[in-house]
Amino acid sequence: MKKVFIIGAGLSGLTAAAELLKAGHEVVMLDQEPRQAVGGQAFWSFGGLFLVDSTVQRKYKVKDSYELALNDWLGTARFDRLDDEDHWASAWAEAYVRFAAFDKEDYLKSMGIKLSPVLGWAERGGTRADGHGNSVPRFHITWGTGPGLVQPFADFVLNHKRFQLLERHQVTDIKIVGHQITAVSGNILVPSDVERGAPSSREVIGQFAFDVDTLIITTGGIGANHELIKQNWPARLGRAPEHMVQGVPDSTDGRMLQISEDAGVRLVNKDRMWHYTEGLKNHTPIWNNHGIRIIPGPSSMWFDAEGNRFDAPDYPGFDTLHTLESIMKTGYDYSWFVLTEDIMNKEFALSGSEQNPDLTNKDIRQIIRERLFSDGTGPVNKFKTDGEDFVRAANLSALVRGMNKLAGSELINYDKLRRQIEARDSQLDNPFSKDPQITAIHDTRHFLGDKLVRTAKPHKLLDGRPLIAVRLNIISRKTLGGIQTDLNSQVFHKDGRLINGLYAAGEVAGFGGGGVHGYGALEGTFLGGCIFSGLRAAAGINES
Ligand SMILES: Cc1cc2nc3c(=O)[nH]c(=O)nc-3n(C[C@H](O)[C@H](O)[C@H](O)COP(=O)(O)OP(=O)(O)OC[C@H]3O[C@@H](n4cnc5c(N)ncnc54)[C@H](O)[C@@H]3O)c2cc1C
Repeated sequence: MKKVFIIGAGLSGLTAAAELLKAGHEVVMLDQEPRQAVGGQAFWSFGGLFLVDSTVQRKYKVKDSYELALNDWLGTARFDRLDDEDHWASAWAEAYVRFAAFDKEDYLKSMGIKLSPVLGWAERGGTRADGHGNSVPRFHITWGTGPGLVQPFADFVLNHKRFQLLERHQVTDIKIVGHQITAVSGNILVPSDVERGAPSSREVIGQFAFDVDTLIITTGGIGANHELIKQNWPARLGRAPEHMVQGVPDSTDGRMLQISEDAGVRLVNKDRMWHYTEGLKNHTPIWNNHGIRIIPGPSSMWFDAEGNRFDAPDYPGFDTLHTLESIMKTGYDYSWFVLTEDIMNKEFALSGSEQNPDLTNKDIRQIIRERLFSDGTGPVNKFKTDGEDFVRAANLSALVRGMNKLAGSELINYDKLRRQIEARDSQLDNPFSKDPQITAIHDTRHFLGDKLVRTAKPHKLLDGRPLIAVRLNIISRKTLGGIQTDLNSQVFHKDGRLINGLYAAGEVAGFGGGGVHGYGALEGTFLGGCIFSGLRAAAGINES
């Protein structure tokens, strides 16, 4: 039996720990945050999971298969570094889609994790069948959202007699001698009782150092490190945003990537990342510059900062990175949704466990009341009144005045905006249309899940209903590249050889292999990537 050290108490670390404990090993977990933050980002997540041909999909009569999902994955990933940085990443992609199609549901069940009946259709693509996007709805919500996913792992691990959590242990160094991991060391931080997710003190009160022969790095991505994001920002996405809201807790600082590289570890695909374009400033921030992402339904009209409507596929929920690129090429860091209150009530979901108390608290009555029969969920309505990015108005001229006031400019011209909205509205007199967004809205309503809870009945924006404009900020989130590993999550040295005893899983390893997503993601694939790569790390250690 081995003594395995794990750096990082997020979902990937917890998964690896659970499997190692089941196999009889001893686990020591180090994390810079206090005990109350165990679970990392996953606790805050919506708990969205990518599954293929699942029981929930079958209930909705969605026909899905491994082959269709792999086609979607590869069309989205567009691996083009196959001889080098994508060599292992692409092998991971096939293995992960296989896991999502054949084993994931059973594994979740075995851990006591349930799925809600809600099935979403994220990243619809919108260009071609072999291009980006999900051909079918695959976004399953964990019953209990992020906490419902994390708790079973945390309960199992934290109560285990062969498990030890060393909180407030911040790793600053790992040592590799030849091709063997030998030591881990760092700072002991002052105890902290800040609430989960809030920034904790970085005051150092001591040092630690351990000799190790088996170590797993599961320290997450760079989403809270704006400087690193800017440094690695790829030119293909336009210029890096000067201003972003932060979609992850401050602990997602990305420092461990540099520390690993300095020790000899091979990092790949640093230029691949996944940030959203529908970020709101949180009216009640928990972490610094706290942003919340709208997960939008398909009906809002999307305009750039100067009031020009975006073209296909830059529609809400269709192609995140394409829209990010289009926005960044405008020269502004923000864009606008223009919609009616009815669209907002039906179509706005907010990402994050705390923004979905009905699903997080597993309150079926509240789910039915708020999502099927009411005027929007409580948290969405709170943003409508308290969110600084919202403009509400009874007519378009007042809306435009409000938008210009909020932006502190006169960039939105009333006549120009009106002409574009009227043209869009003119496409609604028939059940068919030449406008690709209107056609997509009709198509969406063929899927029962969207028709029931995610897509407003198509209507004209200027038919007299109350109007809303939402200023959308760029919001940081996921890191798609990272530490390169083989299919057992074992880490490669810069010289191309495997390092004995060193493993990496979760976001720090690009969710597997140094970038299982390639250039783009199908959504719900991050939490699952943490679980799968954590499982593979444990399997690799068992086999070694
Ligand atoms: C609001 C929100 C919503 C999301 N929704 C979804 C969703 O619906 N579906 C989906 O698939 N994904 C979602 N995600 C993404 C997903 O939650 C994360 O990608 C995933 O949880 C990352 O897990 P991880 O184990 O790799 O790392 P993390 O959860 O980031 O954990 C890393 C841990 O390592 C610790 N650490 C870092 N550096 C050091 C160091 N030097 N020394 C010691 N400890 C260190 C950190 O303190 C942290 O506890 C969401 C994320 C957020 C924030």
